[in-house]
Amino acid sequence: MTHPAFIVIGGGLVGIAIAYGLQRRNIQTLLLDEGDMAFRASRGNFGLIWTQTKGIDMPAYARWTWGSAESWPALEQDLEAQTGIRLHYERPGGVEICLSDEEMSAKQAKMERLHGHAGHIEYRMLERKALGNMIPGLGPEVVGGCLCAGDGHVNPLALLRALHAGFQREGGQIISGVTVQDIQPQASGFKIHTGSRSFECGRVVVAAGLGTPQLAGMLDMNIDVRPQRGQNLITERMKPFLSMPMSRIRQTADGGVQLGDSKEEVGFDDGVTSATLAEISERAVKVFPHLKTARIVRAWGALRIMSADGAPIYAQSKSYPGAYAAVCHSGVTLAAAHANILAPAFADNHLPPNIAELGPERFAHV
Ligand SMILES: Cc1cc2nc3c(=O)[nH]c(=O)nc-3n(C[C@H](O)[C@H](O)[C@H](O)COP(=O)(O)OP(=O)(O)OC[C@H]3O[C@@H](n4cnc5c(N)ncnc54)[C@H](O)[C@@H]3O)c2cc1C
Repeated sequence: MTHPAFIVIGGGLVGIAIAYGLQRRNIQTLLLDEGDMAFRASRGNFGLIWTQTKGIDMPAYARWTWGSAESWPALEQDLEAQTGIRLHYERPGGVEICLSDEEMSAKQAKMERLHGHAGHIEYRMLERKALGNMIPGLGPEVVGGCLCAGDGHVNPLALLRALHAGFQREGGQIISGVTVQDIQPQASGFKIHTGSRSFECGRVVVAAGLGTPQLAGMLDMNIDVRPQRGQNLITERMKPFLSMPMSRIRQTADGGVQLGDSKEEVGFDDGVTSATLAEISERAVKVFPHLKTARIVRAWGALRIMSADGAPIYAQSKSYPGAYAAVCHSGVTLAAAHANILAPAFADNHLPPNIAELGPERFAHV
């Protein structure tokens, strides 16, 4: 592909969803990705499509998240029809479990704040008995929980694979194993250099996860994110017992139970520690005592791409308006918005007006 309309840098969930959305509209797009050498949140996440914790004090983020959750069924249908890859997407509602009265009150307070500006988000704070009627097997330490009807989950690796396959099926090109080192604005467009090759394009999207700040800086966009580690475990396959995802426990389509996920400020270390894995397991056993005998088959750490306020950052360069950047900590949830709202707006050469508040300018006073 010579001189594509767009080059997207980064083949994680954010970059590929945008690239897919562009190519689906017949806009010639080349995706450059560093591959296995890089930190990749998209291969280590929990798979939730989650609205109840997003934008509690930030209406624009709550609306953006809700819009994406609402358009997820269309994305699933589109990708499955195109690629034949089953995403195992479900939206049965989602639960956050509380193990103490303090956790119940704190969750209730957050939900009231969210509901104050997002009245369409349906939720119920359920005492133990009501929750136990819905979800059998809860342990005696469960005090209650919050059920949010709009939440769901998906196989995130299948999603990543399907977006890559769909993008290529639509005519998009992926070059992986290349590290973008330099981006030079030209009279019309951009020249992008990897160690061994150069590429030219009309417009560029930097969606390189934790690599974004450095690359976006070359285009006068100030994107500040830090790594935040989350550790996860997965059990052997078990008989189905959990019909809806919880914020830290979900049963996958093949029966494995995924347990997560810590929030650790440890820099660029994506390893695991026995202390944290033990904490995660102990909490899971309090929620479902029968997990005590489940065998753990895998544990891993992955790095979130975290902004100072936890919300996404979307930018269009003021100096070079054909250049964009996108980073977020909810790339599964937001995949539908990225493919179906963000990409068309980039194609029209602007940011969607409803995410104006999610720009980097909001940190300028910090
Ligand atoms: C433990 C954990 C649990 C999570 N759970 C959820 C969840 O339940 N629901 C949810 O919605 N989100 C969740 N997330 C967040 C979600 O995984 C991320 O928002 C998403 O994966 C970010 O995708 P990305 O494409 O921005 O970044 P990444 O997946 O990190 O991809 C960045 C890509 O950029 C490439 N790259 C970097 N630098 C360069 C360069 N110089 N040149 C070329 N390529 C480059 C890399 O190769 C990489 O492929 C979770 C994250 C973690 C860590």
